[in-house]
Amino acid sequence: MVQQTRPVRPRVVIVGAGFAGLNAMQELARGGAQVTLVDRNPYTTFQPLLYQVATGALSAGDVTYPLRVCAAKYPDVRVRVAGMVDLRAADRKVRLDDGTTLDYDYLVLATGVTTNWASIPGAEANSMPIYSADDAVVMRGELQRRLEEAAEGRRPTSHVVVIGGGATGVEMAGAMAELRRRSIPLTYPEIGPDQSSVTLVERFDHVLSPYRPRLRAKAARALRRRGVRMMLGSTVASVEPDAVVLADGTRLPSDVTVWALGVAAPEGVGRYGLRQGRGGGIVVTQALNVEEHPEIFVAGDLAAPPKPLPQLAQPGIQMGRHVGRQILAAARGRPLKPFVYHDRGTMATVGRCEAVLQLDNGLTLSGLPAWLCWIGVHVAQLLGGRNRITVLVNFLWRYFGPRRSAASVTK
Ligand SMILES: Cc1cc2nc3c(=O)[nH]c(=O)nc-3n(C[C@H](O)[C@H](O)[C@H](O)COP(=O)(O)OP(=O)(O)OC[C@H]3O[C@@H](n4cnc5c(N)ncnc54)[C@H](O)[C@@H]3O)c2cc1C
Repeated sequence: MVQQTRPVRPRVVIVGAGFAGLNAMQELARGGAQVTLVDRNPYTTFQPLLYQVATGALSAGDVTYPLRVCAAKYPDVRVRVAGMVDLRAADRKVRLDDGTTLDYDYLVLATGVTTNWASIPGAEANSMPIYSADDAVVMRGELQRRLEEAAEGRRPTSHVVVIGGGATGVEMAGAMAELRRRSIPLTYPEIGPDQSSVTLVERFDHVLSPYRPRLRAKAARALRRRGVRMMLGSTVASVEPDAVVLADGTRLPSDVTVWALGVAAPEGVGRYGLRQGRGGGIVVTQALNVEEHPEIFVAGDLAAPPKPLPQLAQPGIQMGRHVGRQILAAARGRPLKPFVYHDRGTMATVGRCEAVLQLDNGLTLSGLPAWLCWIGVHVAQLLGGRNRITVLVNFLWRYFGPRRSAASVTK
């Protein structure tokens, strides 16, 4: 149990300003806690739309939002832009990469997860992750560079291989295939259809594992219709600078390899001295705090609760709110409540007018209705009115504007 002598206005340090950290911050600030919000970036990133940045429909600024603007509503919230490098749980101190330390009564760890290279030889050196706004901008630059080289004849091909058939891989492959079919023939007339391709590699015999078989099959069909070469049931053995090599020895030529295989906790989490579980996540109780240090709470992708949850935005949002409420309760000497996840459904898009959606009550949607829901939900979840408007306008431009300008964002 958390001690009952805690101050009613506790000092709370939240590390990580993603879905979980920001929702914890709001809950705590409204409840009168003194909050320090720490993130290594001065902005929060809306990861679900990063692939739109990588494929040139959105700019990085459309999917990021300044932390100081989030915090400005709350007089008792301070922002620190720094990376957490260490935790001294016994002393209740967090050490930051600028050499300073922060003391806390309660700590919320919400630093998310990162790319999992799965110990595959050559993966880290020869493929591109898509986990941050920087990753997405770098990938866009690389795709543009390869296309320019192919157009100028300095490189014969512009083949893209996407590894991983989860939502990120499916969305990336779908967006790239649409560009290849609709816009590249107009903007890069020098590149013939045989010089470019999009391939999706997945070790299961289906894409989108968490979805019902009917929706998985629909998504795979929609990708094939867009010209994506589907390598299902294929395991990646290694990644080379110009190829992806499969376990059966097949060599897939690749000028740009996109790594969308899965996620794991960053290595640094191992230094915190807290028990780690599945994928390196920090093991927490049902109330989302650490058994050995009840004043430390973990929310979002980094948490490993007794009942595993999908690593998605909704669990992060709900865990963040729950953690905020539990800290306020603990500070007032009230008992902690277990976290209960309310599944609001999941969705993924394959491209223009094509998405799949499933709700926990069994309802499923696909095609245009699911795609309209996908746009509505993503635009509504963005932070900031300006971002919502620019994303909506850019979506309309990408999907219904002139074909030549589908990837019109260059910076
Ligand atoms: C490409 C992509 C597409 C996705 N698409 C979807 C989707 O369509 N739908 C969906 O529901 N989910 C999607 N997800 C998953 C979803 O984005 C995550 O589940 C969610 O962001 C997790 O929230 P979080 O708060 O735990 O972590 P994050 O949102 O990752 O936030 C973590 C924060 O911690 C900061 N941080 C990390 N380490 C440190 C440190 N040491 N010190 C200080 N700060 C640190 C980071 O800068 C970041 O701001 C997608 C993820 C990716 C990568």
